Amino acid sequence: MQVSDIQMLLADAGWYEGAIDGDAGPKTWAAVASAWRNADRVAVRSGGPWPEDWTHSRRLVAAGQIALHQMGYGPGVIDGYAGRNTEEALTDWRSEKVGVSSLVERSLVSGGRNHPSQKLFPHQRDMAHFYGDAGGAQCTAGKVDLAYPMLIAWNKPQTVRRFSCHEKVAQPLTGIFQQTLQHYGLSDVERLGLNIFGGCFNFRRMRGGTSLSTHAYGAAVDLNPEQNQLRWGADRAQFAQPEYVPFWNIVMAHGGTPAGYAWGKDWMHFQFAGV
Ligand SMILES: [Zn+2]
Repeated sequence: MQVSDIQMLLADAGWYEGAIDGDAGPKTWAAVASAWRNADRVAVRSGGPWPEDWTHSRRLVAAGQIALHQMGYGPGVIDGYAGRNTEEALTDWRSEKVGVSSLVERSLVSGGRNHPSQKLFPHQRDMAHFYGDAGGAQCTAGKVDLAYPMLIAWNKPQTVRRFSCHEKVAQPLTGIFQQTLQHYGLSDVERLGLNIFGGCFNFRRMRGGTSLSTHAYGAAVDLNPEQNQLRWGADRAQFAQPEYVPFWNIVMAHGGTPAGYAWGKDWMHFQFAGV
C-alpha cells in the first residue's frame, strides 16, 4: 500500500484535504490521527491509544485500513500490515472509484459437493438461519485447536496454534487439521503450504460483490493465499494440483465445500455452506 493510496483513502473517508503527493507530511499525520480517533473500536481490537511500538509505516497502513473499514470494504484486522485482505479491499475500493468491475466469476463448476457430511451445513443463501446474524458473538465463539502450528500469511514470523470461528464449525475444523497432519505428516504439510493461515472470521462483503462473505459468519477458512489467489484458476493455483486431492477430500468429509471445486477459483478458500 503506497502513501498516495493512503492519502486518497483518508481523503475519501473525509479526514484529509491535503495533496495526494505520496509524501507523508504534517497534514497526512493529522489525518492519520483523525482516522485513529474515529476508528470503530470493534474493528480495532487493540483499542486506543495507538500502540507505541508501531513503526511509522505500520501506522500509515493502519490508517488506510481504518478508512477502508469505515467505508465498508472489509480490510480484515486493523494491524498495520497490508496483507491479502487489505490488498483485496483496496482493489475493490479502487475498482469502484474508477467504475470498473472487480467481480469475481463465481459460475459453478460442480457445486463442490460430493460427500454426505456437506448436507449438515446450509446453502449460502440460508446462512443467517443456520448461523444467526453475521458478525454476532457466535461467529467467533468457536475455538480451533490446531494440530500443527500455522504461520500467519500476512506476517509470517507470527505463528498460531488456535483461531476463532463460528461455534458450529469448530469441531469439523479441528478434525480437518488433525486428519491433514495424519495423512501428510508435518514435513509435507509445511512443504505444501497447508500451514499458512489466511484468515477465518472477517466481517466483510464478498469480494467484488454486495452480499456478505461466508467469512462474516466465521464459517470459512483461507489457506496459503499467495499461491492461490482469488482470481486464479486451476492452471495457476497451487491447491489445484493432484497432491492436494486428499486434503480436499478431508475437507469435504468434514462438511466443507472447497471454492476451487465449487466455482473453479479462489483455491485458498473453503466454507461450511453450499453454493
Ligand atoms: Zn475466503
